[in-house]
Amino acid sequence: MTSSSIRLGKFLGIEVGLNYSLLLIAALVTFQISSLVLPNEAPGYSEVFYWAIGMATAVVFFLSILWHEFAHALMARFFKVRVRRIVLFFMGGVAEIEDEPRTPAQEFWIALVGPLSSLFLGVVFIILYLPLGHHDIYGEVFFWLGEINIVLAVFNMIPAFPLDGGRVFRAIFWFFSRNYLRATRLASYLSQGIAYLAILSGLLSMFTGRVLMGSGLWGILLGWFLLGAAKSHLQTAQVRESLRGIPLGRLVRQGQPLNPDWPLAYAIDRMAIGGSATSSPVIRDGHTIGYLSLDVLRRIPRIGWGGVRVENVMTPINTVRSVDAYQDLYDTLRNEDLQREPYLLITANQQPIGLLSQRELIAFAEQQARGI
Ligand SMILES: [Zn+2]
Repeated sequence: MTSSSIRLGKFLGIEVGLNYSLLLIAALVTFQISSLVLPNEAPGYSEVFYWAIGMATAVVFFLSILWHEFAHALMARFFKVRVRRIVLFFMGGVAEIEDEPRTPAQEFWIALVGPLSSLFLGVVFIILYLPLGHHDIYGEVFFWLGEINIVLAVFNMIPAFPLDGGRVFRAIFWFFSRNYLRATRLASYLSQGIAYLAILSGLLSMFTGRVLMGSGLWGILLGWFLLGAAKSHLQTAQVRESLRGIPLGRLVRQGQPLNPDWPLAYAIDRMAIGGSATSSPVIRDGHTIGYLSLDVLRRIPRIGWGGVRVENVMTPINTVRSVDAYQDLYDTLRNEDLQREPYLLITANQQPIGLLSQRELIAFAEQQARGI
């Protein structure tokens, strides 16, 4: 959890956090309800009562956002897509989904269920409001909550990243094109178009007083925010696609086989023959018993290379977690269990073919991402 948020606890197995910015929003909501809305629309109550109702409304508003995010999180879990946590902040929240959805249908439902659940809640509040009507203190509160939930649903359906509508749009286009990257690119262009429209409309309203999509500074800020998200979503998708096609087996550069009894200095000379090798198998009686990795050598001072035997500094294969050579780089780097392993033993048909360090995997991914 980032330092700008408070940990609230775990609900249904999902960690929930609250960004400090939401406290400001809660205060604004309370102020708006207790000092502006209620005394005008439903006069005749004490100040204290207005404030109590205002605070209760702010709490229900906060629960409405939580409801929206939990809808995303539970739908993700239904599809076995892991959710790290939910963080609530200014004008909404974020359900941090750990894996990307694997199919267009998954992405579509995970994204759509948020606005749908807000719409549902909005309708429920409006139904509660109807028998009470305006000028009733509870009727006013229900109406306000109904309205804000419907606004939340509509706002989130704007087809621009990072809003839910952007994801819904990408899912639909992904479904028809069968191409995740192309779908993301199109959704990103659409997001940028909407972002520029918001900025333009913000500027326009400043000069002419007309409002198209958000007025004044709000429109400009919204556009700026959408623009940044449109670009970062495209970048993430490009990195994902470029790493997805790379099986781990292709990254393995195995050097000359080494004898466990050799002094390190001699083994290093032999490894150098392999050229670009990052590790060499250590063989005893025809079996690979470990790997000598360049990463390990970096940590041993050169002066010790003469007196140490290969066996003392190699990484024994029974201490390393093995991964199939066909697994791709993207899945490997996203996997939390594998992230903890300093080394991975790459195997093909259950036979070891090389050792890769976490550092090498990351370095390769960064090099690949720079090429985009
Ligand atoms: Zn949402």
